[in-house]
Amino acid sequence: MHRVVIVGGGAGGLELATKLGDTLGKRRQAHITLVDKCPTHVWKPLLHEVAAGSLDPATNHLEYAAQAHWHNFTFARGELVGLDRSRRSIRLAAVPDEDGGDEPLFPARELEYDTLVLAVGSTTHFFGIAGAEEHAISLDSVWQAERFRRRLLRKCAQKSDGRARGVVSPVKVVIIGAGATGVELAAELKKTAKAFRDFRLHGADERCDIHITLVEAGTRILPALSERVSEATARLLRGLGVDIMTGDSVMEVHGDRVSTRGGATFPADITVWAAGIKGPAVMELLDGLALNRLVQLNVTTSLQSETDPNVFALGDCASCLWEKGRFVPPRAQAAHQQASFMVNAIKCRIRGDALPTFSYRDLGSLVSVGSSGAVGNLMGGLVGRSMLVEGLMARAMYASLYRMHLSTISGYRRMLLDLMAHRLRRFLAPRVKLH
Ligand SMILES: Cc1cc2nc3c(=O)[nH]c(=O)nc-3n(C[C@H](O)[C@H](O)[C@H](O)COP(=O)(O)OP(=O)(O)OC[C@H]3O[C@@H](n4cnc5c(N)ncnc54)[C@H](O)[C@@H]3O)c2cc1C
Repeated sequence: MHRVVIVGGGAGGLELATKLGDTLGKRRQAHITLVDKCPTHVWKPLLHEVAAGSLDPATNHLEYAAQAHWHNFTFARGELVGLDRSRRSIRLAAVPDEDGGDEPLFPARELEYDTLVLAVGSTTHFFGIAGAEEHAISLDSVWQAERFRRRLLRKCAQKSDGRARGVVSPVKVVIIGAGATGVELAAELKKTAKAFRDFRLHGADERCDIHITLVEAGTRILPALSERVSEATARLLRGLGVDIMTGDSVMEVHGDRVSTRGGATFPADITVWAAGIKGPAVMELLDGLALNRLVQLNVTTSLQSETDPNVFALGDCASCLWEKGRFVPPRAQAAHQQASFMVNAIKCRIRGDALPTFSYRDLGSLVSVGSSGAVGNLMGGLVGRSMLVEGLMARAMYASLYRMHLSTISGYRRMLLDLMAHRLRRFLAPRVKLH
């Protein structure tokens, strides 16, 4: 049987493994293996909610082993650390015992493939800014989002203690980068601040709860989206009490402050870096596959590596030409479309047919700006022109993006059951994690 190995079970890789398992795997026409370094999947666009405590990853994750069992593919846990193209095999590092035992959970091993699909996503690009990697938290993984949340709780507890002694000061969060990640985190944190106030965890009034500064080098927030969306979002954020600083780039990140090239200094109890992405470091260890300067794999319009026709890439780790010299943007929407395309491409490859051509369709961008139905967004391809959508309608559309992802990987029925469970949980627990 043709062996398809997919590395990375994120927005794109998990959809691909599930769809291939449901078709080729079920009919025993190919053996599908999904590799991931983590045992569970959490949809990455939810990470700002994990960081703000409004989403518990423990109740919103999907276990790869169970998904593999339900959808006729094999799951192999391990981190990709090498590739041997002549032998068509990848190398996975040993998975250490989390309890510190000498025996690894899984030993280092090799996996052979006929078709390899890289879907390992991206990591934060710190652009060599002094102190950024050392002092700022990024939101690349559940672990990092949880780290932010725990630090926020700790800082809130410390400040509350200070208030008891008569020292009133808010927890100061500086978010560097006002793209979708930074903007959504800022808005979500304002929700968290309100919940903390309600539960008397921190900040009896708005002046001393959580103060957020959003720093953006570009002249406006959401520089990748239209001006109308940017303006509407900035208005909503300011209404929430978020300070927005644009047109000034960060020069250095310190343990307790952020300084900019323009000479400004922002005191910071917590600094978040949300200013750019690049391919994961492992991409440079993959047997000389051609990469771009952002360490993403250069792929043709069939998503095939320019260097090796047996290797494909999709999602954030792929650099695929789109239109007018632009490249497909690093978005869940693109990863989803490329996963659907790859199902067909792999079927063609197995049959020996010519590979189809991928064409990205921009359906617009939605940015969540808090709970009050306040979402500014842009719809492009769907309506044939650009349109601004705000308020409850946009909020519902934003929520439906995750529902669509769930529906793709779990089916419509399971997605509805999950939605019901989610709604029920709202009555049983606070909306924000308090510990
Ligand atoms: C806070 C936040 C909000 C976002 N909001 C939006 C949004 O609203 N809309 C939108 O379209 N996009 C959004 N994005 C971007 C979106 O999440 C990504 O574009 C999308 O997840 C990319 O999908 P992917 O499959 O390429 O990678 P990912 O979803 O990142 O998955 C990569 C997978 O590879 C695994 N992996 C990585 N390295 C290895 C290795 N060496 N070995 C084995 N496994 C490995 C990881 O564990 C992970 O499971 C957001 C991102 C963030 C961080």
